[in-house]
Parts: sequence; C-alpha cells; structure tokens
Amino acid sequence: TPVACNASTDLTAPHDEKSFRLIVARLEEPSLPPLYMRIGGDRQSLEDDLRLRDQATMVRLLVILLLAPVGGYILALRATRPIAKIIAAAARLEPSRLHERLPIRGTGDELDQLSDTINGLLDRIASYIDRNREFVANAAHELRSPLAAIRSSVEVALNRQRSPEEYGTLLGEVMEECQYLSNLVNRLLILAEADAGRLGARAPTVRLDKIVRESLDMFEAVAELRRVRLQSGPLPEALVPGDEFHLRQVVRNLLDNAIKFSAAEGGTVNVQLRVDAAQRGAVLTIQDQGVGIAPEDLPYIFNRFFRGDKVRQRQPGRHSSGLGLSICQTIVRALGGSIAVTSKLEQGATFAVALPLVVEPPIRTLP
Ligand code: ADP
Repeated sequence: TPVACNASTDLTAPHDEKSFRLIVARLEEPSLPPLYMRIGGDRQSLEDDLRLRDQATMVRLLVILLLAPVGGYILALRATRPIAKIIAAAARLEPSRLHERLPIRGTGDELDQLSDTINGLLDRIASYIDRNREFVANAAHELRSPLAAIRSSVEVALNRQRSPEEYGTLLGEVMEECQYLSNLVNRLLILAEADAGRLGARAPTVRLDKIVRESLDMFEAVAELRRVRLQSGPLPEALVPGDEFHLRQVVRNLLDNAIKFSAAEGGTVNVQLRVDAAQRGAVLTIQDQGVGIAPEDLPYIFNRFFRGDKVRQRQPGRHSSGLGLSICQTIVRALGGSIAVTSKLEQGATFAVALPLVVEPPIRTLP
C-alpha cells in the first residue's frame, strides 16, 4: 500500500511520564477509507541507540584518521620506490660506466616508459661516446705515422754532415709529410665541424660546374702521369648549396680516388654533370675503369678510416687515411644531398653525388 505522508511526533505517557516518539504514516488505498499507521518507540532507548551509533561512528572516524597517514605513507613508499631506484641507478652513471641501464619492472606503466626512454637516451649517448673515442684513437694513430716519418728524416739529416743534394731530398720528404699532415688535420677538422652540427648550416651557394672544371684541370697532370685519360661531358651551370672549400674537397677526393685506383695500365675516368631543373637537382658522376671495390667492402667504404684491404695491398702507400669518402658523404649529406656507389671488382667504380639545385629568385625589373 502506498504511503501518502508521514510525520513524527513526540508523546508523553500520562501514567509514568515516559516519552515516546511516534511516526504516523497515511496508507492510501482507493477502495478503503483513509488509514493511518502509527509506529513508535520509547524515546530513551531510541536516544541510547543513537548515542551508541554516534560513538561507534566517532571511533571509526578516529581509527580512519589515525590509519590514513600510515596507509598513505605506505602507498607513497610503494609508489616512489621505483623512482628511488631510478635515481640511485642514474647517480651511479658516469661517462666511463655508461653501459649500466635503469631497471624495467615490466608493468608497462609511466615509470617503466620513463626508464625505457632514459635507457634509449643512454644507448645513444654511449654509442656517441664510443664513436668519438674510436675517432680520437684512429686520428691519433693516423697522425703518428707522418710524424714518425718526419722525425726519421730529420734524424737522418742530423746524424752526420751530408751533401746539399742529400739535404734537399730529406727536406723534400719532410715537406711531403707536412703536406699530408696538414691535409689530414683539415679532414679531421671538417669531420669535427660536422659532428658539432656546424657543417651545412646557412651554407652559401656555389657553382658546382666551375668547381668540377677547375678540379679536372688540376688533376690533368696527375692523370697523365698515371696514364689515365680524364674525360668529361658538357658541364651545365649548376648552382648548389655549399661553400667552395667543402665542395672542392668532395670533387677532388672522388677524382683523386678514381685516378689512384685506376688499373696499372691506365684507363679512362669519365666525369658527367647533369642538371635536372624539373627535379631541382644536380648529379655529378665520376666513373673509373680501375680495380673496383670488393662486394664485402662496399657497405663500409664511407666509414671513417676504412681502407679496402684488397685495394690497399695493390696500392701500397702511406698516404691514405681512409677519410676521403666519409668526408664526401658528410659534406654532401649536410648540404641536403646524397652520395652513392656502384662497383664491380676489376671493372671499376662509379660514384654519384646528388645535390639539390638552388633556384635563384627571378630578378625583378622596375616598372
Ligand atoms: P682515402 O682518403 O685513404 O683515399 P677513401 O675514404 O677515399 O680513403 O676510400 C676508402 C676506401 O674505398 C679505399 O681504401 C678503397 O678501398 C675504396 N675506394 C674508394 N674509391 C675507390 C675507387 N674509385 N675504386 C676502388 N676503390 C675505391
């Protein structure tokens, strides 16, 4: 039966002065006259119950208030323990011991992701430091041999009186080593510049065709000496980013290699420069008919200090640092281009340098 309304009243029994609390509820039933239900109880016992309930609530509240900080502390400790481990592991890291990694708990939560990110960063830093160490060790090794050669020439010159011709020869050797040393130091500086991200930044523009022409003229005599024919197609105007010094290095290194690795009986070195205005690119190819590159060496020839063993055996000579191609690649990449090689052993090699063309803004004529 639906209850229509209710209200509570307090009553006092006349005979024993006891107080009661009553609740009146009206029960509505359409077929019946209005019905009222009255439920009540002794006020004293009701108040005792309420007091008891209040006391129990107070005790619970007190327990909660006391336990909350302890629980919070335990929870915070559990949550921060992995962070403490990360901090401890990070504090142990040193440049000499960069191979330690932060623990991954496998929960996949944000802390695991943080550790994973930091580990990735450490991997990159460690490999960067390793590469730098290797670079410094290799550079020192390369610098040592011309220095030793200079020292031995000077020692020979000093150990007794010699004829003017002998002094001339020894000084010539010293001069040659000095030239190699200065070339080597220049190459190392270019690589250091590239590592510092300074190569190619705000590069000016330069005419690649002019640099190719000038380099071909420069190598004419050397090529003749080695019975190599230097051949070139038309050299169309190609304005590319870069400065003369760096692009000269690229063209000269490639020409130098092409002549140096030409077969003993000579051959032809073919130089082509193509300009694709639609693609906004210039491609310089230098093709030789030399000893070629072994397939197992191909993936490494752009690495710093790499010298092909097979070729080295055939081309003995101290003046090879294995830096030329890595410098070419570093410069070309810094200018937004690429360098590729194709080669077959005993048949020669072709190097192709692709560079973006710089489009000059049209000259505005005054109305
Ligand atoms: P380097 O500065 O000593 O000349 P590079 O970096 O220019 O060294 O060349 C690295 C290696 O690549 C060489 O030792 C040689 O094995 C190989 N190489 C480069 N150019 C040619 C080429 N035109 N023909 C055959 N091998 C080449």
